[in-house]
Order: sequence, then structure tokens, then C-alpha cells
Amino acid sequence: MRIDILTLFPGIFAGPLDHSILARAKEAGLLSVAVHDLREYAGGRHRVTDEPPYGGGGGMVMKPEPIFAGVEAIRERFGPGKAILLSPQGEILTPRLARSLAAEGHLILICGRYEGVDQRVADHLADAEVSIGDYVLTGGELPALVVVDAVARFLPGVLGDPEAARKDSFEEGILEGPQYTRPREFRGHPVPDVLLSGNHAAIEEWRREEGVRRTLARRPALLKKKLTPGGGVE
Ligand code: SAM
Repeated sequence: MRIDILTLFPGIFAGPLDHSILARAKEAGLLSVAVHDLREYAGGRHRVTDEPPYGGGGGMVMKPEPIFAGVEAIRERFGPGKAILLSPQGEILTPRLARSLAAEGHLILICGRYEGVDQRVADHLADAEVSIGDYVLTGGELPALVVVDAVARFLPGVLGDPEAARKDSFEEGILEGPQYTRPREFRGHPVPDVLLSGNHAAIEEWRREEGVRRTLARRPALLKKKLTPGGGVE
């Protein structure tokens, strides 16, 4: 899969993409991520990318021209890609959305800054708007990294143990149960006996029960959704 990222701050992406699973996915050729400096698509001597909003209101708004030019140049060079504007007003990222984006083959992520992006980008360029949650960040770079990570996990071959991922939180509409590793006892806190029993059916049942218990305590809305006809798995 190819992901192009358009941003005013390319330096933000240097570290997070170069470690662990994402780095290995890139080395294995399963994922390729290219970061593009929006300023390179801005015209004029000063390469201006933002202006005050029409109608006043303070702050600056990102101009449409460099964003249109950037997306068009990427599409011309690398083929049609689904352009996604990161926005707190977009569709909330869920496992279902991440899985569908992973099937796209080519994404172009547009990172906003300041007070946001000229509306014509959302209306006439982006194919979708995606939010990583109901809070406002200073820019679209961290949301873009979140999208890359969430999407990469669903690319075939990226996770060492896809079976383990199928038990992750939200996969079956509930949270995952607790996990333990060595030592058997740590500062007086033992690992639950069932996990040491070797009885795989009992372990599975315990994990599921604990997952349901946790979901009920922490995210009851998930259980409600799971039990609603047509709701359930994200
Ligand atoms: N004024 C905008 C509003 O109220 O909807 C918020 C602009 S925000 C300060 C600047 C940029 O950060 C946005 O254009 C978007 O690209 C990004 N951003 C902020 N929060 C986000 C979120 N929760 N999900 C995705 N992108 C976000």
C-alpha cells in the first residue's frame, strides 16, 4: 500500500514511521509512506500557504491552491489515490474504517493546521474527512500518523501474529481481557490460576468473560451496540 502525506511540517514524521512494526512493514515492501512539503506547492516568492479567514474571526486558514496542487501532482505521479482530509469534523476512525482504508491501495492524507482548511478542499478535492476523536489538536500530523498506524495493522503480512490481532479490543465488539506474562508472582500479585492451568478451553472462556466484564465496566455503550440488531463488530 502507498500513503502520501501532505503537510506543512514534514519533520514531524521522521521518528514514528521508522521504528518497530511500521519500519518493518516498509522494509518488507508492504507499506510505503512518502511525506510531501505543502510549501513546495505554494506559488509566489513567499510560498504563502495560509491567509486570514474571510469574514474575520481571527487565526489563519490554509489556502486551497497548494493543497489542490499537491494532491493533483501526487495523483499525476503515483496514480489515483483516495484523498483524506484529517479533520475533527470527519468520520471517526474505527477498526471498520481503518480496515476499509487498508483495502484502498493508495491514500493521500492532507494535514490541516491553524484554524483549519479552506472549505473547498473538503467540498471539491477530498474524498473523505477523517477524525481521530472528539477533541481538537493543533494539526493533522498526529492524526495522519494514527491513521497510518491503524491502517497498516490491517495490511496482510504486517502483523507477526494476525490471530492475536483478531482478539484485540473492538474486533468482536468488546474490549480485550487482561494479559499477563512472567513472573508468576510480582510484588505479591499472582497471575490468575486459570492462565497457568494449561486448559485452553477454560483459558479462552475466562478471557472472554473478563473482556465482557471490562467492557461492561468501562465501555457499556459497546456492549449495547453489540446486542443491537445490525450493531456489533466495528
Ligand atoms: N477550527 C477547526 C474546528 O473547530 O473544527 C479545528 C482546526 S485544528 C486546530 C487544525 C487542524 O488539525 C485541522 O484542520 C485538522 O487537520 C487537524 N485536527 C485537529 N484535531 C483533529 C482530530 N480530532 N482529528 C483529525 N484531525 C484533527
